Order: sequence, then C-alpha cells, then structure tokens
Amino acid sequence: MRRSHALLLPFPAQGHVFPLMELAYNMASQGFIITFINTDFNHARLLSSTTTPSSINFISIPDGMQPEDDRNNIAKLCQALMTFMLLHLLELINIMNIQESHKPTCFNADEGMAWALDVAKKTGLRSTAFSPASANTFTSLRSVPYLIERGIINEHDGSAKKPGQVFILSPGIPPMNMDNLAWNCFLDSEYNKIMFQYIVNNNKAMKHAEFVMFNSFYEAEKAIFDYLNSSKMLYIGPLLAKHSSSICLSRRFWAEDKTCKSWLDEQSDNSVIYVAFGSLVILDERQFQELALGLELTGRPFLWVIRPDITGKDAIPLPEGFSDLIGDQGKVVEWSPQQEVLAHPALACFITHCGWNSTMEAVSNGVPFLCWPYFADQHLNQIYICDVWKNGLKMVRDENGLITKEEIRDKVEELVGDEGMKKRALALKEMAVKSVDNGGSSFENFNTYINAMKDDNL
Ligand code: UDP
Repeated sequence: MRRSHALLLPFPAQGHVFPLMELAYNMASQGFIITFINTDFNHARLLSSTTTPSSINFISIPDGMQPEDDRNNIAKLCQALMTFMLLHLLELINIMNIQESHKPTCFNADEGMAWALDVAKKTGLRSTAFSPASANTFTSLRSVPYLIERGIINEHDGSAKKPGQVFILSPGIPPMNMDNLAWNCFLDSEYNKIMFQYIVNNNKAMKHAEFVMFNSFYEAEKAIFDYLNSSKMLYIGPLLAKHSSSICLSRRFWAEDKTCKSWLDEQSDNSVIYVAFGSLVILDERQFQELALGLELTGRPFLWVIRPDITGKDAIPLPEGFSDLIGDQGKVVEWSPQQEVLAHPALACFITHCGWNSTMEAVSNGVPFLCWPYFADQHLNQIYICDVWKNGLKMVRDENGLITKEEIRDKVEELVGDEGMKKRALALKEMAVKSVDNGGSSFENFNTYINAMKDDNL
C-alpha cells in the first residue's frame, strides 16, 4: 500500500504557518508523508531561527513579491499570492505528479490561501481547507454573498452601507460589526478593496474543499458549529493541547528566549502578568510607553514580549527608569516560548491582542485574559472571551484611543481579584483538553479526516 502524501500550504504569516505545522506533525504521526510548502521568504526565516525537523519535508516557492517589498503590507502580499504564487504552485504540483515517488495524494490549504484549491482541482488532488482562525471568523468571511444580498455591504468593495452596523447571523452567535470585518481594517480604501476581492476569490474556490477543519472545539463555539451543521465542518482543536512543546521545534520565525522558564520558576504561583501581542501588531510610541508605565504601576511581576518591530521600523525607548524594573519586578524578551509560558503555574493573567492562536493557547492552559485587540478577527475573539466564555476583561481606550496606565493597573487588579474568572477559565480548559483526548469530539473529527484521506490507498 502506498503511503498517503499530503501537501500543506499555509498563508505566509507566523499565526498561520504555526497551526498548519502543528496539523502537519499530527498527520505525520498518522503515517502521512508531509510536504510543507512555505514561501521562499519565510522558509529562510524559519531555517535561521530554529532547528530543522525530520518528520516533515519543508520546501518553498516564491511568493511573487520582490525581495525588497514590504510583506507586512498584507493587501499587496495577497495580490502577489493569487497572481504569481498560484503559478509557482501549479508548476510545483505538475512536476511532483510526474515523479511517481513524489506524487501527492491530497492537499490541505489554509483557508486564507483557498485560491490554491483551484490549483489542487486542476492537478487532480483531493482538497481540504484549514482555518487557523475561529469558526466564527471563517463564517463571517464566507457570509459575503449573504451580506450583499441583504444590502448590508457594497458589492464592489465590501464596505458597510451603514458604518458601524452590526448583524446577527443566527441567535446565539455574537453580532458581526461591519467595520471590523477582515477586509475593512486598512486605512487605505484601495487596500480594503484588494482584500475584499481576495476574499471573494477564496470564497469561490472553497467549493472544492471536501472538508473544512478548524483549530477550535465544539464547546468554544457551540452556536456557530450548530449553525454550520455539516459533516464537512471538522473542529479538531485546540491543536496545541495535544502536543508537548518539545516536538514543535521548527515553527517560529523568531528565536525563542529560553530564559523565560527559569525566570518564571522563581516567581510565586499565580503572580505574573504575561504581555504579548503576537507577530503583527504595532504599538505607537505613546501607547508603548504608557504600557510600560502601566506595568510598573501594577507593582506585580511581569513578562513582556517586545518584538524588535513592535513599534514599527524605529525602536522607541522605554520610559526613563523603566530599565531598573527589569530584573527586579519584570522581564523583557524579544520572543517567548509562549506555549510554555502560558502553561507555567506562575502566570496570573495574559494581556493579549486576542489573536486566535494566542486565544486557544491561553484557553488550553486556563489563563484569564485582558483583551487589547487591534484589527481583523481580534475584536470578535474579544467578544468570545469577555461575553461568551466570560474568562477575561476588556481594556477600555480613553477618548484619545489610549489604554492608560491607570486602566492597565485597575483591570489587572479587577481580573486577579475575581475568583469566578479563574474558575471559568479552568472549566473551559477542561473542555478543551477533553475534546482532543482519546474519544473526544475534536479527536474523533481528526480521525474522520485521516481515514477519509487514507481511503484512496486501500
Ligand atoms: N508567539 C510566540 N512567542 C511570542 C509571541 C507569540 O511563540 O513571544 C506565538 C504564539 O504562541 C502564537 C503566535 O505567535 O502561536 C501568534 O499567533 P496569533 O494568532 O495569536 O497572533 P498573530 O501573530 O497572527 O497576530
């Protein structure tokens, strides 16, 4: 019997590459040959920051941008992907198909790269889409035709007909705010338009997917899974609850600071504020300094991830005297082993931008949240945390859009003083862990997918 050979294609951003890689490890452990396709740009970053793994074959193709182009410009990146990367992918699969020993049997694309399902169709591969974001975010992206039909958004660019309008897909599902939809979050309306077209294209290609998989679990998003109500929709998460971090060596674009663990070991249980904004969020100078002052004001130990590019291109200094706190009250790192950090008993709470990976990682470890969202799905994830699961609080911006040092201190105090918050966080953790355990619903869904993709070779 020939081994199944899966091609996996993530959207080229840390928060997408990482969960797809987790899925790849899971599939490899079920006997699949895995070819993981990164962009040349990210492939080089990955190799420079981490150890090369053995169970996955990593390859790369061009993303269609020039070396000097700004890949943080997501709209331009998306344009290049669906125009040029598509051709490189087609060429790659055609070559693989010719060599019997390399012939792939199935394809799994990030839903943010759903255009690639057209390529899979053309080259005779069975297709699956994987959503690294929540099922609710996935559903709001797929709701474009529905929103146009009801006159809520404009057909040509997806802009809201009435700014700020909210819309409820079905009872129990949090309201969608038209201003926070993924394609409406750029300052430049041309970019919004490009993103909208990108999503419309992806929506069309989604028809080729035999399955859609989610890094989520039933209890986390009951209402939306009941609404989707299809055997094609498979929640298989949280992926991270399954793995010990030791086997996930090769998934980071930045080198992890390994001193976090020993520093956390020295702190009391339930005492540390962990602060991290994922891989993309940029803080302006005022907010960056105010956050530093807020952490100081809490008087509590903190572990703060300051990515080298967190304030954009130019490094911004910390407030005067703040460096004295480092080593005494707190620790600053450029990139943490976040999963390990969130699993540490010293953690009291997580100040987060509410990216879905960070959200699932904290849920898997029963850590309560302080929500500080910026764009895309982060606002919707905040609604889940604060209003559905009730295991976190919102940081509120003042009239100038600033989260003040007093707000930081007060919300930290309110959160850590609320026993109910921690209890609910632990209850959700239990459900998350159960779902990926033997016999759990996410575990069973993953097996459904594996068995379906192996069927070809019987
Ligand atoms: N992350 C990490 N170390 C850090 C900060 C973040 O390993 O210091 C990881 C985090 O564990 C998560 C990912 O980066 O898996 C960020 O993904 P998320 O969806 O939360 O946010 P995005 O980067 O997509 O905005």
